[in-house]
Amino acid sequence: MTIPRRFTGDTLVIASHNAGKVREIAELLGPYAARFTTAGALGLPEPEETGDSFVANAELKARAAAAAGHVALADDSGLVVPALNGDPGIYSARWAGPTKDFALAMRKVEDGLVGQTDRSAYFVCALSLAWPDGHVETVEGRCYGTLVWPPQGLHGFGYDPMFRPDGHSLTFGEMDPAAKHAMSHRADAFAQLVERCFR
Ligand code: IMP
Repeated sequence: MTIPRRFTGDTLVIASHNAGKVREIAELLGPYAARFTTAGALGLPEPEETGDSFVANAELKARAAAAAGHVALADDSGLVVPALNGDPGIYSARWAGPTKDFALAMRKVEDGLVGQTDRSAYFVCALSLAWPDGHVETVEGRCYGTLVWPPQGLHGFGYDPMFRPDGHSLTFGEMDPAAKHAMSHRADAFAQLVERCFR
């Protein structure tokens, strides 16, 4: 097994153009970097997500941002439904169409599950840290659960209202956001990344 590379710089580039995500990542990694900046602030274009997996997409986004000369962090996430052969998977955002209609995306998932007995699903979050010399460290967090219908709850975003994590009676949409953040695929991925590269 190779020894993971640790982050020792002072500036970390967050390779996301989503302000909410940038704020959340800067808060989570606040103790470990002196300065945060973003791909947008550096004038870097958003690369096309042409990878065939969450890991591949996180890595290509992190590598593109690291080209500016600082260590860069990128993520890719989505919902995997085994009974739908892994869909919507890396296309989770696109299933909602240009108007980001997640009521429609959830309906498409439910339509695909008609006649299926397996309603299991899991969220995935890949996080990739890339260095300007091309080195990358990548982790993948998961959260397993069951898909319910109709969608329940108004918290969260995306597919949250139809996802009930294992061992819980509420969907992510019904849960207090802090409870979701403590058990989510993103929490799992960040815990792994901090352990691997930041402690
Ligand atoms: P990304 O921003 O390209 O990683 O796309 C992530 C997409 O996956 C989002 O638009 C949602 O559809 C879905 N997704 C990822 N994480 C979550 C979550 O925590 N709850 C609900 N949907 C999620």
